[in-house]
Amino acid sequence: MTDVATCARVWRRGSGVATFGLTRAPFSGGFAAVYRRFPSLHEEIDVRWSQLLIPTVRENPADAEVASHRLMVRAGMIRKVAAGIYDYLPLGLKVIRKVEAIVREEMVRAGAQEILLPAVQPAELWKESGRWEIYGKELLRIRDRHEREFCFGPTHEEVVTDLVRREVRSYKALPINLFQIQTKFRDEVRPRFGLMRGREFLMKDAYSFDADDDGAKAAYQRMFDAYVRIFRRCGLDFRAVEADTGSIGGRDSHEFHVLAESGEDQIVFCSKCQYAANVERARYAPDPPTDGVESAPGEPAEASTPDARTVDEVCRSLGIPPTALGKTLIVVADGSPIAAMVRGDHELNEPALRTLLGASVLEMADAGVVREVTGASVGFAGPVGLAIPVFVDEALRGASGLAVGANRDGFHLTGVSPERDFTVARWGAIRRATAADRCADCGSSLDFRRGIEVGHVFRLGTKYSDALKCTFLDADGRPQPMVMGCYGIGVGRTAAAAIEQNHDERGIRWPVALAPFEVAVLALNPAPAVFAAAETIHDKFVRAGVDVIFDDRSERAGVKFTDAELIGFPFVVVVGSKGLEAGEVELKDRRTGATEKAPFDAVVQVLAQRIFEARCL
Ligand code: ATP
Ligand code: MG
Repeated sequence: MTDVATCARVWRRGSGVATFGLTRAPFSGGFAAVYRRFPSLHEEIDVRWSQLLIPTVRENPADAEVASHRLMVRAGMIRKVAAGIYDYLPLGLKVIRKVEAIVREEMVRAGAQEILLPAVQPAELWKESGRWEIYGKELLRIRDRHEREFCFGPTHEEVVTDLVRREVRSYKALPINLFQIQTKFRDEVRPRFGLMRGREFLMKDAYSFDADDDGAKAAYQRMFDAYVRIFRRCGLDFRAVEADTGSIGGRDSHEFHVLAESGEDQIVFCSKCQYAANVERARYAPDPPTDGVESAPGEPAEASTPDARTVDEVCRSLGIPPTALGKTLIVVADGSPIAAMVRGDHELNEPALRTLLGASVLEMADAGVVREVTGASVGFAGPVGLAIPVFVDEALRGASGLAVGANRDGFHLTGVSPERDFTVARWGAIRRATAADRCADCGSSLDFRRGIEVGHVFRLGTKYSDALKCTFLDADGRPQPMVMGCYGIGVGRTAAAAIEQNHDERGIRWPVALAPFEVAVLALNPAPAVFAAAETIHDKFVRAGVDVIFDDRSERAGVKFTDAELIGFPFVVVVGSKGLEAGEVELKDRRTGATEKAPFDAVVQVLAQRIFEARCL
């Protein structure tokens, strides 16, 4: 175990010895060795508030829907430049650098080497992998003065594979794992939530290259373990869950989610066993046939349902429960429209449908395509008489007497039975799991929580090494494709997710590891003795290697308190005249809300110890 003294010492510049009564301990490996390699974050720097650009504001920004966005703007950490594009101000950048430092240390510890690849990438590489055509509008395509095509990298599989195919030729040079921390650009449809879904954002991306599957599996596990350490050290409550592999493609994938109500993703846990997955790909125990279908079988008949388009409206109009409705969605799979049908109370699981179809890209059809295919507007599509294949969810197997869209505006059909009234191209489990489902592995009930995806690990197999011919010569001199993995962490999103999980109505409550400063020292009034005493405490913290800021502004105490709580420093040391007379200062813990008196002479020692413990988690 890394003890406090070791931490204290290595957090100081060089290899000095911890002061303030902390005992000397032999320098041991672990975190200590790692920190020694990256001492820059906790150099002994004298920081005065009045010298920094910390433009705090009282009002919430109008466009901020979530706490992290609101609070990062109000705490003077970020400013918007354009949709999804931000300035990082000193405090914001400091947090980002802390996330980066933890990520970097754990990557190096796991054996990855840091590189920096170009942000702007030639189209040729993307054409070689086949992604130039399929990546869609998120890819920012640009032309240079010679009309040559480039893109601003949303991810770097192509570029890194190109590097490795040129530079690594022999099995002796494998395995290799390369990582970078770099700016990505993705032209997101809906940039929002501040740093959580930006268009320009910082990502750590790592890529592993192995000689065989076993090696690739081991590399994946090493990265998985490193991610667990990273998010634990960031002080976050997180879960690793099975995930969909999306357009990057591949076989195995886990996402790391920070649990927070504002999360865009829904994750599913088994209440009993270890099973956890993104709802996008959550498995569940198979549906019993005809489960929940309540309407009586009959012959298809048209029913007028004017203005009823949503499941609720149609059910109200026909007087049926959602379980008696077949919801038909028109989906474009690799350019061809198909129909997918799920029960009225279920949601389509797009990745499951994509897998069933063996398609690369799925998009919901727009109104024009829906009309072309069904002859009706959105909301009235149904499976009967369609010229395109209809894929139906297993929950409807054996169902009869369903209500479905009539492919005619203002009408639905009742009494419809799959197979009898329309051809089912294929049955499949193409709906999302619900609270009524049971765990596929152990049969227990499933719990649902919301999560923010902060990291993602994939086993890619030879998808990119085949496409880009990234081969090595094995021991017998035969060329073999390298087996790859890729591993991403959203650096800015991690910082924002920390806020989503740690805030209250007054502001942020940073985990110690990510706080822009660990301690703020605050003089209650401008009396010279108070100011000088606060300065002394600040200087002692600096010498102890604590990341401290001295609020030396000539502001009212109320303003200083409000700002400190808004920005969310884990600890505030308050120096006032009365306390000084008694040889005391006040120590406020932002996370617990506790306030205690501490002796002026010992406060630094006591607090430094607590902070080092929190850092070394
Ligand atoms: P999402 O489903 O949220 O769009 P993704 O699957 O596209 O994420 P990856 O391609 O796996 O994301 O990227 C790796 C990591 O980069 C993600 O886990 C996330 O933390 C981060 N990330 C992705 N998109 C954004 C974005 N628009 N803004 C900030 N961070 C992002
Ligand atoms: Mg995305």
